[in-house]
Amino acid sequence: MKVLLTDDSSTMRKIQKRVLASMGIEDVLEASNGKEALDLIGQHKFDFVLLDVNMPEMNGMETLKAIRSNPDTVKLPVIMCTSVADKGQVMEAIKAGATNYLVKPFQPADLQKKIEATFGK
Ligand SMILES: [Mg+2]
Repeated sequence: MKVLLTDDSSTMRKIQKRVLASMGIEDVLEASNGKEALDLIGQHKFDFVLLDVNMPEMNGMETLKAIRSNPDTVKLPVIMCTSVADKGQVMEAIKAGATNYLVKPFQPADLQKKIEATFGK
């Protein structure tokens, strides 16, 4: 499985990477904003993308909309990382086509459960 982690916090990416490694997923690329993410999505075939909402340059909502409006990636699974402080983000993410969402702050086990739920394990 090949996964793209998109978050402007390198600490958050490190945490996510560790969770994926614990699940046996080692083929992981990282982006720190939406522009970088879209570049990598154009160059690689990912099984799913973890996408933070609040990022500089290009935020997660804009990135998700770009992913969904491209026929090549319209079905690419995207798990959005939304902020607990902004409940409207969850609704907006679902409306924009998020496959699933994870509310921050989360425990490593929560991320694993969300990934398993997304892939029906
Ligand atoms: Mg962020």
